[in-house]
Amino acid sequence: MIVMLHAPIRIALRALSTFYTPQKPLTFSGPDAARKLADLMVVNGQRRPLIVTDSFLLQNGMLDDLITFLKGRGCHVTTFDGIIPNPTFAVVEAGLKASLDNKCDAVFAVGGGSAIDAAKVIAAASTSRKSVKKLTGTLKGDAPLLPFYVVPTTSGTGSEVTNAAVISDTETHKKKFFVDPKYIPIAAAFDTGLLKSLPAPMTAATGMDALTHAIEAYTSRNRFDDTDRDAAMAIKLLFEYLPIAYENGHDEHAREMVALASFLAGFSFTKASLGYVHAISHQISAHYNTPHGLANAVILPRVLRFNKKTCAARFAQLEQILTASASNDTDLLAEQFISRVDALADRVGIPASLTDLQSKDFGVISSDALAEARSSYAVPRVMRRSQVTRVLQSVLAGNRDLTFS
Ligand code: NAD
Repeated sequence: MIVMLHAPIRIALRALSTFYTPQKPLTFSGPDAARKLADLMVVNGQRRPLIVTDSFLLQNGMLDDLITFLKGRGCHVTTFDGIIPNPTFAVVEAGLKASLDNKCDAVFAVGGGSAIDAAKVIAAASTSRKSVKKLTGTLKGDAPLLPFYVVPTTSGTGSEVTNAAVISDTETHKKKFFVDPKYIPIAAAFDTGLLKSLPAPMTAATGMDALTHAIEAYTSRNRFDDTDRDAAMAIKLLFEYLPIAYENGHDEHAREMVALASFLAGFSFTKASLGYVHAISHQISAHYNTPHGLANAVILPRVLRFNKKTCAARFAQLEQILTASASNDTDLLAEQFISRVDALADRVGIPASLTDLQSKDFGVISSDALAEARSSYAVPRVMRRSQVTRVLQSVLAGNRDLTFS
């Protein structure tokens, strides 16, 4: 029965993805990338940008150079710094007000996935006749967005290339999705000057978020040759450069490579879709406000173990890509890949448990996770409610090494 529920979704996803390859935004990279992006916006004719960011980045002067540059190019700059992690509908409404009150003609997101996602919805609602809530869902936009530009200051969500935005509903404790190709920005800038200040724990969590995107895309039943290629490249880059970026945040080359990996992973999952790591972690973040990357990083090893039964050959391929191993022992290679992910998580300080979790919530978290996976993801193996609960119990207990039959 469960498998039957997944089949139509899988077929519909596959049909859509076969005929539709999302466009990649234009990208700039390096120490002056944010300025180059601002320049592009001016060349495109926009003069009244709304900068969407958070107060931490603004107060630490990380936007000073960009704002001075935009003003020097004759722009009237409005800054909205109300972004919080896991942004809510109230945050989006406040940003929308700033956009409309100041007659902004472009939206310029500077920040992590939270700023970028909120900025996407602000840019959509600014031109829409619908309310923000009515834009929730798939293909609900009724007008082109305000021209939309992005400077990601974390490297993990891939939101700078995805067709989605995620906004938290504080009443229902659910994350709401906005999915539309219109949400892909015109252009994105990987500015190493801004990326290098990301603290080590955030570097680790967001980097493991990118790794999760790439692995879930690579093992999705809706994968394609191009998504495989981008996902595998992202995984290779992350194993090589995430430890360097974590240990020496000022290594601009490592920062650039992790940003590229996040971009490639984001592109591949936008077409191939995600899996149970996200289905579970979204519910955890909605209940306990757990940072998205951290929740994914902690859930990932458990779901890899669950998926091994159907994904051993895919994990083995990844192990061969990473090590050029000549072995053809699929089971051994798959185990080695899972251990490699554990070792990376340990090296960048990812904990084995999430202590905020409360077992009284496991029932609703499990049901909502299964519902999200059923409606959105082409998972390689279907989980039962009791298996989601086992994952949650293992997270509470800090036991990563669980087995599934
Ligand atoms: P975030 O945007 O919530 O940022 C976390 C913290 O990092 C903030 O306090 C911020 O001030 C700080 N920060 C950001 N850049 C910094 C820098 N360079 N230096 C110092 N501090 C910095 O974290 P995130 O993980 O990037 O984004 C998570 C959000 O993205 C969640 O809401 C999640 O649902 C969403 N998401 C969206 C997609 C998508 O496709 N749209 C994909 C995955 C996740």
